[in-house]
Amino acid sequence: MPDGPGPRSARAVIFLGPPGAGKGTQAKAVASRFGLAHISTGDMFRDHMSRNTLLGEQAKRFVQSGGLVPDEVVLGMVGDRISQPDCQAGFVLDGFPRTRRQAEALAETLRARSCEQPLVIYFAVDADQLLRRLTGRRTCKVGGEIYNIYDLPPKVPGRCDNDGGELFQRPDDREEVIRERLSQYEAQTRPLVDYYRERGLLVEVNAMGSQAEVTERVLQVLGRTG
Ligand code: ADP
Repeated sequence: MPDGPGPRSARAVIFLGPPGAGKGTQAKAVASRFGLAHISTGDMFRDHMSRNTLLGEQAKRFVQSGGLVPDEVVLGMVGDRISQPDCQAGFVLDGFPRTRRQAEALAETLRARSCEQPLVIYFAVDADQLLRRLTGRRTCKVGGEIYNIYDLPPKVPGRCDNDGGELFQRPDDREEVIRERLSQYEAQTRPLVDYYRERGLLVEVNAMGSQAEVTERVLQVLGRTG
């Protein structure tokens, strides 16, 4: 669609898929190329928790146990974030919405801001790959780069290739917490696949294969629909 003379309304892209599907990795790789802000609710909660803010306190026990943070808390946080100036051209939502109520609230927010209908990219990945990605995931303490000790190891074990930062395992990537996150996904978030498909907003991307291969597929979808 050609751009009209007026300012274009913000583009909302939702990355939907189970924990471990690679949403965060891909959002980091592609968002800025399209001038979109990357909004990761998981990263926001981890940031609040590390700074011991009130919001961090509210979220902590849910994040640590693999449960979902209550909708009101999430919605307030995302609403504030979307109104920031860097979201004006658009944003990639990574890890949100995760419940039907969040999806409905988002639709309302987008309508109120005259945003386009969201584009939902669904990351399809086999269940056994998820466990491998989650248990193998390591993150750089300095820059947040994501590695996988099985599939995408750093050159020096435990150190980031970019800045030499220490790599750590997220506490919620322990096996019993992973199980809870996956079961929350099945119960609360998977129904959103049909919710968005029925509305004609969903594009499925094969999220198996290397990081670069998946990036290429996501870029194609974003380029095609932009
Ligand atoms: P992953 O997608 O790999 O499970 P995230 O980093 O997206 O991990 O989220 C980590 C945790 O943060 C979740 O397990 C949940 O406790 C909380 N969280 C993140 N986003 C939401 C959301 N939209 N609604 C409720 N809780 C959330």
